[in-house]
Amino acid sequence: MSGCLFCGIVRGDIKGDIVYQDETIVAFRDISPKAPVHILIVPRKHIETLADVGEEDKGLVGEICYVASQVAKEQKISQGGFRLVVNNGTGAGQSVYHLHFHLLGGRPFTWPPG
Ligand code: AMP
Repeated sequence: MSGCLFCGIVRGDIKGDIVYQDETIVAFRDISPKAPVHILIVPRKHIETLADVGEEDKGLVGEICYVASQVAKEQKISQGGFRLVVNNGTGAGQSVYHLHFHLLGGRPFTWPPG
């Protein structure tokens, strides 16, 4: 989608520090990391929010979760504990309206989140 930051990274028009990609998913480092490892996992398909995921996207969301677990292992944050977060909508802090999962690790996390 034109004007979408993450579509630009997915297409390669905007530079991203990509750690994983396949035909449907791209994972790249967050530009403003909130943990020693902070990676964004996004579908190549432009979907604005998790609430916009359609029935046809159910498999895609499952793939993203699988990729997250694999990247967590590659980044060596799997054993120490990691967090996979989706901010859905402004009230939850979503700032980029292209669905993305935050993969965070490398430090302890508290609960509940802020
Ligand atoms: P959210 O607030 O959940 O929508 O998350 C958006 C995330 O995108 C934030 O953690 C930002 O730091 C991150 N971000 C913004 N611009 C870029 C960029 N050009 N490359 C990588 N991450 C970015």
